[in-house]
Amino acid sequence: MPEPDTKPKPELYTRYPTKNIVIYNGTTILHYLFGSFGLMLGYNFLWDGLGGFLFSFIYLIFAFMQMYIIMPLTVCPNCVYYRLKDGLCTSGLNRFSRKIAKEGNLKDFAKRAGSPFCHNKLYMASLFIPILAIIPTLIINFSVILLIVFLTVLGLLLFRFFVVFQKTACVHCRAKNMCPNAKAMGLVDK
Ligand code: SF4
Repeated sequence: MPEPDTKPKPELYTRYPTKNIVIYNGTTILHYLFGSFGLMLGYNFLWDGLGGFLFSFIYLIFAFMQMYIIMPLTVCPNCVYYRLKDGLCTSGLNRFSRKIAKEGNLKDFAKRAGSPFCHNKLYMASLFIPILAIIPTLIINFSVILLIVFLTVLGLLLFRFFVVFQKTACVHCRAKNMCPNAKAMGLVDK
């Protein structure tokens, strides 16, 4: 007979503490800024340096748009936090979403993942593009500062997966029981 799980369940937040919101957005914004800086440094050998600026600028616009415009327009309206009157989610985007988008359907929340063009793919791309794109430049255009920037972005990614998701954000989320990401990370029963 398996031992009953006596570990207390993490508190589900209606209003996330400011510290958790700062950690979530801080990790996100730093990832995008360092990622962009890394692309600028790594590809500055292209077209007299123009290549670096171009790639870093395009990446920065893509990363911020998918997180702070496309998600509040397409995912958040279907989220439980959109409906929670005094709710404040881990990114605070539920409040912004209410200002720019009409209420969606809770049943559609899981559509954030699954299809080829779902928001999840954009979100993951924003995290992995700088890491995958900087690796070849570490070989063909190496510099110590580029290596430091690369390790910083990698560190921010690991911090997101092992600290932010597991300890400060998703584990306390009231949407985790219907969220495909939380399910994939095994956070639903935690
Ligand atoms: S918790 Fe809900 S409202 Fe907040 S960012 Fe995630 S999907 Fe949007």
